[in-house]
Amino acid sequence: MTKKRVLITGGAGFLGSHLCDRFIKEGYHVIAMDNLITGSLENIEHLFKLEHFEFYHHDVSKFVHVPGHLDYILHFASPASPIDYLKIPIQTLKVGSLGTHNLLGLAKAKGARMLIASTSEVYGDPLVHPQQEDYWGNVNPVGPRGCYDEAKRFQEAMTMAYHMHHGLETRIVRIFNTYGPRMRLNDGRVLPAFLSQALRGEPLSIFGDGSQTRSFCYVDDLVEGIYRLLLSDYHLPVNVGNPSEITIREFAEEICRLTGAELKVDYQPLPKDDPQQRQPDITKAKELLGWEPRVDRAEGLKRTLEYFREKILTPAEQNA
Ligand code: NAD
Repeated sequence: MTKKRVLITGGAGFLGSHLCDRFIKEGYHVIAMDNLITGSLENIEHLFKLEHFEFYHHDVSKFVHVPGHLDYILHFASPASPIDYLKIPIQTLKVGSLGTHNLLGLAKAKGARMLIASTSEVYGDPLVHPQQEDYWGNVNPVGPRGCYDEAKRFQEAMTMAYHMHHGLETRIVRIFNTYGPRMRLNDGRVLPAFLSQALRGEPLSIFGDGSQTRSFCYVDDLVEGIYRLLLSDYHLPVNVGNPSEITIREFAEEICRLTGAELKVDYQPLPKDDPQQRQPDITKAKELLGWEPRVDRAEGLKRTLEYFREKILTPAEQNA
């Protein structure tokens, strides 16, 4: 029987590599495409030996060609953490705009269904809480995060235009903070920063007074939500994230309890346009996809900590 074929852009990144694993497990032929600007081959090297896995080293903001049939395209290529997109704002805008346009064109030519990775950042610093999909957001287009937020908003608009105008089958997932193994240790986001600092015995950096909240979704839960959305018949945006909310200060305490580190904090000024609160309303995902998160923070952090320990500590320190 011929296998269904899926193209995953950003396939060497954190989320893309977990999606490659999932589609391989489900029996697909997986084509990962990545220019490795923030990703790493280490995340997918275990797949290289497989007959039904291919890797293309390519920048999707340039013309994209893939030989053969495609059933699905998942567009996950984009710098995702502020530290990355502040360094490469123009590539970030290009991959959300030109990259998305190229891939929508490819999906149309191949008759493939396309799912795009949008983000909770389309809500900006939200004025409603928690955020439902019909909230239009509070985004500063000319602020430091504008390059990412507006690229993703444009990406959604372009995807909807292909759906409305060309009848293309499209899906839009709005992803909230996700964590797990293969996150980069130094990507600047709070969870890898706290874990790395706690494992090294350094003070944890808290921006502002730590009263801002975040909600963290474990990667396996996110992948399940994306898989269900792709196979659903719903084309409007769907939030996928974990609504369990925690203040940054409480989260620092939680990380120290988990790692056995003493709580030491280094307070730093709050970055511009940093959202105060973030929490997904997942009613739609529950009703449409029968999806909700299954892995709680205690379990997810335990699994992520193992990965970070291997990356940060020497074998002797790991066994200590
Ligand atoms: P990541 O940086 O680990 O992965 C992104 C991948 O895209 C990298 O491998 C990078 O090399 C690749 N890439 C970037 N520009 C490219 C280009 N022009 N051509 C080809 N490849 C390119 O980030 P991630 O956390 O895995 O995020 C993946 C997607 O999910 C992104 O679109 C991001 O906006 C979205 N997202 C992630 C989160 C999260 O919590 N991780 C939250 C919301 C949305």
